[in-house]
Amino acid sequence: MAKRDYYEILGIEKKATAEEIKKAYRKMAIKYHPDKNPDDKEAEAKFKEAAEAYEVLSNAEKRQRYDQFGHAGVGGAAGGSGGFGGGMNMEDIFEQFGDIFGGAFGGGGGFGGFGGNRGGGRVFKGSNLRVRVKLNLEEIARGVEKKLKIRRQAPADGVSFKTCSTCQGSGQTYRVTNTILGQMRTSTTCPTCSGLGKAIDKKPAGADEYGMIRKEETVSIKIPPGVVDGMQLKVSGKGNAGPMDGVNGDLIVVIEELPHEDLQRENNNLHYDLHVSFPDAVLGAKVDIPTLNGKARIKIDPGTQSGKILRLRNKGLPSIEGYGTGDILVHVNVWTPKDLSNEQKKIFEDMRDDPNFKPQPGRGEKSFFDKVKEMFS
Ligand SMILES: [Zn+2]
Repeated sequence: MAKRDYYEILGIEKKATAEEIKKAYRKMAIKYHPDKNPDDKEAEAKFKEAAEAYEVLSNAEKRQRYDQFGHAGVGGAAGGSGGFGGGMNMEDIFEQFGDIFGGAFGGGGGFGGFGGNRGGGRVFKGSNLRVRVKLNLEEIARGVEKKLKIRRQAPADGVSFKTCSTCQGSGQTYRVTNTILGQMRTSTTCPTCSGLGKAIDKKPAGADEYGMIRKEETVSIKIPPGVVDGMQLKVSGKGNAGPMDGVNGDLIVVIEELPHEDLQRENNNLHYDLHVSFPDAVLGAKVDIPTLNGKARIKIDPGTQSGKILRLRNKGLPSIEGYGTGDILVHVNVWTPKDLSNEQKKIFEDMRDDPNFKPQPGRGEKSFFDKVKEMFS
């Protein structure tokens, strides 16, 4: 059977961005996920097909080879190279792309499942751990190193393993049965060691049946500048340890952004609501605006209208990709006084009919809509 084009499988264009590829794959993976389609061979085939397409297209180098040489360029045509030709097996898919599901599937508690074969028996993979880390905008602006206290499953001190005596380390047990067709040899996963090929030798006090114990650990993580609420960072190998010398899961760090007292984030820009007094708006003034590293002084021109937006360039947040920095957009609100003395009221009464105080919009003033357009240009 001819292999389908990887772009076609994911339903994307040749020029799709990495983000679009990821999105398309996530959609397919959720649609055809075996949890949602139990015992559906066609869904399983589609699930594997999508994973294979994603495996290639998500890797810039492989994608380039594929674009140039087609399936042959990535060893998918004849099969065999890199263990990829016959398609991927489900465990590989979950292991490699587990994160794309964002925790929607698998890996909740207990073990993350089985990894590939290592020597004789199976290898357990520890499950991923998730922690939330709260960051304020100042930390997001400059990037920060956080020490996280986590409780992870790890081998207890002094634990040791020996070869499983039931299966001799192969992870399989064999049974010979006599049938009318002659003798049949069937193999099953070793019931003693669940296919691991190992048994616990010395089990320290407090350890579970796999010699594991919960340990508190401090993990240090460098968070780059410009992260966004809900973003997930992965610390490889810092999740739960795989029992019996298995493979460690990962630590998934979920970013939680704390609201700022004065500034409101919109992508990499920050908005600030400035309230100026009536005299300051009329006569002009200098005011201090809070920024993420102190203050910035700005000039309010005489005759400034309410609704004017002033821009403090590069005082916003850096982009996570490392190019460009946002601005602080200062929204000017003229504060109208409420409780006036009789003398003050008199002053305003006198001004009521003065032609200077008649609103004259359009005289060099941009409309609200022009300002909005300008803001997003
Ligand atoms: Zn065994």
